[in-house]
Amino acid sequence: MGIRCNICGSVKDIAPTHKDYQSVNKNPNFPYICEYCGRKIQFELQKANDIYKSSTKNPPQAHS
Ligand SMILES: [Zn+2]
Repeated sequence: MGIRCNICGSVKDIAPTHKDYQSVNKNPNFPYICEYCGRKIQFELQKANDIYKSSTKNPPQAHS
């Protein structure tokens, strides 16, 4: 079954054993994200998380 990635639009052929196969089979509009984009998103989230952490590492003192 061919499935289109929601992010980059590339069509992937997935096997019935694929974890998203049933979801896509039931709902053709299932937001599938390919492995490449999934990794990219994870990386972006991690990066955003790191920036958030470093910006809250030394919070301004409320009471002085
Ligand atoms: Zn993709």
